[in-house]
Amino acid sequence: MNKDSYKDMLAKVQAFHDKHDFKNTGGEELTYRIALMAEELGEISSCVTKGKSKEDLAEETADLFILLIGTAIAADFDLNQAFWDKMDKIMQRDSKMVNGRIRVSEFRIKTQRKGAENAEGRKV
Ligand SMILES: [Mg+2]
Repeated sequence: MNKDSYKDMLAKVQAFHDKHDFKNTGGEELTYRIALMAEELGEISSCVTKGKSKEDLAEETADLFILLIGTAIAADFDLNQAFWDKMDKIMQRDSKMVNGRIRVSEFRIKTQRKGAENAEGRKV
């Protein structure tokens, strides 16, 4: 086993799913998984807001990471490929400061707002 390999992490999470038969017991149902991920995100938040240790923060982040890999199993997509595709995409994006913090986004320009006029001068 190579602990730096996504493939090996995926195999370990798959073994965890298999051990508890998540596929046939609701453990791979996406709405349930979203709730579990939200729960773990809350635990990460709690580590920050309650000043818990770095070890606690690492453990809760690992919980979310394991759930993310499991969600890729449940929804049958290649998270490794999605990661690299998305990194390529976001590396091309601009950043700007928003309320004192950096934000990297596409920063789409809003072309139409409610009450504005379209090109023909009609209200939209
Ligand atoms: Mg947790």
